Amino acid sequence: MGVLNVLGIESSCDDTAIAVVQDGRHLVSQAVASSAKIHARYGGVVPEVAAREHTMAILPVLEETLERSRISLSAIDAIAVTEGPGLLGALLIGVTFAKALGMGLGIPVVGVHHLEAHLYANALIEPIAFPALGLLVSGGHTTIVLWQGHGRLDVLGETRDDAAGEAFDKGARALGLPYPGGPQIERLARTARVEPRLRLPLANLGPESLDFSFSGLKTATREMVVAYPDRPGDIAWALEDAVVRALVKTMTRALTRHPVHELYLAGGVSANTALREQMSLLAARHAVRLHIPPVELCTDNAAMVAALGYYRLEAGHRMDMGASPRTNYPLGR
Ligand code: AMP
Ligand code: MG
Repeated sequence: MGVLNVLGIESSCDDTAIAVVQDGRHLVSQAVASSAKIHARYGGVVPEVAAREHTMAILPVLEETLERSRISLSAIDAIAVTEGPGLLGALLIGVTFAKALGMGLGIPVVGVHHLEAHLYANALIEPIAFPALGLLVSGGHTTIVLWQGHGRLDVLGETRDDAAGEAFDKGARALGLPYPGGPQIERLARTARVEPRLRLPLANLGPESLDFSFSGLKTATREMVVAYPDRPGDIAWALEDAVVRALVKTMTRALTRHPVHELYLAGGVSANTALREQMSLLAARHAVRLHIPPVELCTDNAAMVAALGYYRLEAGHRMDMGASPRTNYPLGR
């Protein structure tokens, strides 16, 4: 058997990304067009604008990916596409494009779950070691999973309201910073003075819960901005500290209950340096190996889609050509 070239397509939010991955493991090339700068004007992603930008970007992005890969379209063996969850109009562009391309080339198409795909950014570094715990922290989700094999994933806990990334985005807005807020908050937090620290409270969901709640941080940050208008750096630090503390506290609980030896981080927020540092310390305390994708594979990308697609194809999954995108696609079995 030769290598299997999978073309990954991602269009669930504001990034149009296409990548070629060999055998679910080797990233050959990727191209991305982001409409984030356009949405920044409105303080968040505008679904209709995102869909229109995907329409315009998808062909040039495919051409650029293939050009960089030096692999011709005829050498692509299969297509993997994000089926959901995400914005309907945005998903439709990727899914329709994938189906058309698959039919035209006469090759299989497989749909993948966007969050599960985020975890597979780690598969591009080294093969996934099971059983494992996964923490998905993105702009729309905060989810802890028990990961026992390819396709064998169970959700242990998730946010009851805002996602971790959303807490950064909304907090940034309260501080007058543009979207996406995470990187802005991280930068501003570095200017915080050491003493006296400002602190934001954590939600208490009870001693057993593996869930999260971040919506209270938005109001608390706003109140802090009013109370300390001259301390934006300290407020950014307080927000980052509160999000990181909540994630570490709940992951500690999850590891105590499910004592696995591998911990995988994924999603846009795992680009955060403070979170990476605190998770490393947590891993050391529990003698667990921590895996975090490189920053460029933490945010939405198509390499992770192709990587997961490879395993789904191997397991025999194929996309129903009549299927619509799955905007509310539950994760896990
Ligand atoms: P995703 O939904 O996976 O594309 O990730 C986007 C989310 O990650 C947004 O909410 C960003 O604010 C957040 N994000 C990106 N970089 C960072 C960072 N360095 N620190 C915290 N959050 C971040
Ligand atoms: Mg994402």
